[in-house]
Amino acid sequence: MPSPIGHSIVGYLGYRYGFQNKENGNMKAMFFCILCANLPDLDFLPGLIIGQSDRFHGGISHSMGVSFILASIMPLALSTKNAKGLGRIWLLLLGIFISHPILDFLAIDTGYPFGKPLFWPISADYYQSPILLFSDVWRSPSSSDFFISLFSWHNFYAVLREILVMSSLIALLKMALITQRRFKEGLIKDMA
Ligand SMILES: [Zn+2]
Repeated sequence: MPSPIGHSIVGYLGYRYGFQNKENGNMKAMFFCILCANLPDLDFLPGLIIGQSDRFHGGISHSMGVSFILASIMPLALSTKNAKGLGRIWLLLLGIFISHPILDFLAIDTGYPFGKPLFWPISADYYQSPILLFSDVWRSPSSSDFFISLFSWHNFYAVLREILVMSSLIALLKMALITQRRFKEGLIKDMA
């Protein structure tokens, strides 16, 4: 799984392109998007309480089905005036929630069952990408040293890798959008 930093970058991008400069563009919306991007990893909590941090982690909370349910519930936490705005927020949140299992799907996973149950409830099978863009995050299986175990050189390099991969993908996307816009502008000029 990528670190909360990797997931937070996607949450921030969702805010940046979905909320900012619109009527809901504010700090509250930004933190809300970042929280939503990390929400599936709250499945660590019940395990931490019983002393086995990984016990309930990486199950159906990391699936398209639960992403769909969460995206349908969470807009209730935002005050939205019209149905058109609600539809846009729903789509944006669905993208943010689905990004979580997809990022985890693209990360190294060394613990059985490998991957995530991406297509639950249609399929309970676990899937892991053959191309792994992100590293895993080392952590203690015990609650007593779970948080302190997160601060390791391995995890530091994992976060650097996430930032590098995400920056490269964003740069590629921006270049593709600029090229597309210039191509369209060229076509319009040629037609004039
Ligand atoms: Zn996760």
